[in-house]
Amino acid sequence: MIAWLGLGGNLGPVRATLVRALRELDQGPCRVQAVSGLWLTKPVGPADQPDFLNAAARLAVALGPGALLERLQELERRLGRRSRPHWRERELDLDLLLAREDGPLLVAGARLALPHPGLCGRAFVLEPLLELDPDLRDPRDGRELSLDVRRLRAQEPDAVRRMEDPGWCRS
Ligand code: ATP
Ligand code: CA
Ligand code: CA
Repeated sequence: MIAWLGLGGNLGPVRATLVRALRELDQGPCRVQAVSGLWLTKPVGPADQPDFLNAAARLAVALGPGALLERLQELERRLGRRSRPHWRERELDLDLLLAREDGPLLVAGARLALPHPGLCGRAFVLEPLLELDPDLRDPRDGRELSLDVRRLRAQEPDAVRRMEDPGWCRS
């Protein structure tokens, strides 16, 4: 399976936490194929919290999507994520955005939804994701995700900013 992940956080040593997460994800049944740049993004929801760092990664995974999600959640906990109300600050968030086996994987569940329910409406998810793979489409209707990112840029041009930090994930 090929899986696209969204990574983010806004609490603690976030850049170092994201680097550690990517290192841990490149083990056992998972291989990290490509990682986006690092993006500095304004929090969505409550604004009284620090800006986020966000990135995206493409993985080759010898697991199904449910087992991969369990691995992501275990890694969030191991790297220090505490339980807080939805939309609040967090040390690490690992979301499974899209997955493909022979064709796109579509899942409609509360524990696992694919594509990720927030995919099309979030610049902090789409900008890093499309930096990796600009031609990605919404598997539900074939719509180019670049159309959504253009709309979001027009609505809120300053919401996300790519950082000058080449090779950040290998540091
Ligand atoms: P959002 O899901 O809106 O980005 P969040 O990342 O803050 O919010 P979490 O508390 O990290 O939310 O996760 C809430 C639940 O979302 C998890 O219990 C998980 O089972 C579920 N979930 C459903 N689909 C996915 C997915 N594709 N990737 C990650 N979690 C998912
Ligand atoms: Ca999330
Ligand atoms: Ca999450």
